[in-house]
Amino acid sequence: MVNKMMFVLLKQLVKKPATNPFPVKHAPANVTALIEKVQKGEVQINPPVPVPEGFRGKLVYDPERCIGCRLCIMVCPADAMEWIPELKKIRHYVSRCMFCALCVDVCPGKKFPGEEKAVKALRMSEEFLIADYDKYSDNLIEEPPEAKEMLKKEAESTAQVEEKA
Ligand code: SF4
Ligand code: SF4
Repeated sequence: MVNKMMFVLLKQLVKKPATNPFPVKHAPANVTALIEKVQKGEVQINPPVPVPEGFRGKLVYDPERCIGCRLCIMVCPADAMEWIPELKKIRHYVSRCMFCALCVDVCPGKKFPGEEKAVKALRMSEEFLIADYDKYSDNLIEEPPEAKEMLKKEAESTAQVEEKA
């Protein structure tokens, strides 16, 4: 028994490690220095383990395909969708999302002329490296570009009112 265990152990010692050294083989002492080296091409990043088919990553929203039916808002168990009444479109907060894809299932989408069938306005992408310092960063909010402009103008006019007061 012991001999058999020793044999298995010795066999493992000469085998290649089964781990995926992502993003680099050893944890860097200085992350900023590592990023600089990667940018200069001095260090190669090992790719992460590929995701399987049907993986539910970051939700992607295409406002052009959105008919404003609000079904996604109704089914979302995480309250991650917000209605934008001025645009009749939605805003999606990725940081609240639990990647269940119920909204994708229910989205009817829109058919453009010449197309055979409607294409959904929502889809789960393969993106999962979405850590951020700010849960409201641009990368973590999906919305029509006009919505960003609207919010910017609102913030500017609020600042002007506060300045005058
Ligand atoms: S994937 Fe699930 S949690 Fe995320 S927005 Fe859609 S319904 Fe909500
Ligand atoms: S994203 Fe889809 S489900 Fe949500 S409002 Fe637009 S068309 Fe409807």
